[in-house]
Amino acid sequence: MFRLDRSLLAIAAAVLTVTIALLPTRAAADESWQCADPRIDVTTTSESSAALICGQADRARAFLAACGIEGSHPLSVRVTRDLSGTVGIRKAGDFDPATRKVRLLPFIAYLRVSKAATVTTPAVGRVMHASIAAHEIAHGIFHERSAHLDLPETAHEYVAYVVQFSTLPSDLQQNLMEKAQLPAVTNLFMFSFFMLRADPERFALNAYRHFHQPENGCAFLQRILGGKVHFPPPSD
Ligand SMILES: [Zn+2]
Repeated sequence: MFRLDRSLLAIAAAVLTVTIALLPTRAAADESWQCADPRIDVTTTSESSAALICGQADRARAFLAACGIEGSHPLSVRVTRDLSGTVGIRKAGDFDPATRKVRLLPFIAYLRVSKAATVTTPAVGRVMHASIAAHEIAHGIFHERSAHLDLPETAHEYVAYVVQFSTLPSDLQQNLMEKAQLPAVTNLFMFSFFMLRADPERFALNAYRHFHQPENGCAFLQRILGGKVHFPPPSD
């Protein structure tokens, strides 16, 4: 009997444990965090999320600074599910030059909009998700520095994708390149508005490969800032 009672207690405890595990958890409240970089503040639900974004901001800044591109204006980053506003386009993050605000999807929401071909494992998903913070913060810095120019969206995306891709581990970069099997980047045609919309991942890979050609690199980014690079017009 005692044994039975103990068994029943064990079963009851197990049921309770499972029930508690399945109870919906209350959404964590947003908090604001200041990065070590005083120009960046982050609103998100956890310190670890904020730390990750601050780290990506540092990497984006360091990459662009190495090319002589630095920004001084503050940037506010918010992790939010509410990225509505552009009908029909699923996006994982955005930057608004008017308000200098970056919005990023939380990880779980990001997985829903990401391409299965790219995010093959949760670990890859984490890395890709983090890289989006670098992409959007790169937009913020480059927009500040190029405010005197009327650059096409493709020019901004070229820079942001180069920065984003640079934050990925080299084996993942290699893997993505091999899967894409892209032809050589010989001109700017592949950086048209149409290509950006049709296959942004391909656009990103091509940008990174183009950037790393010996004649390009930081000099190419400086030529963009000098108004000397002519990306294909939006109608192409
Ligand atoms: Zn972008």
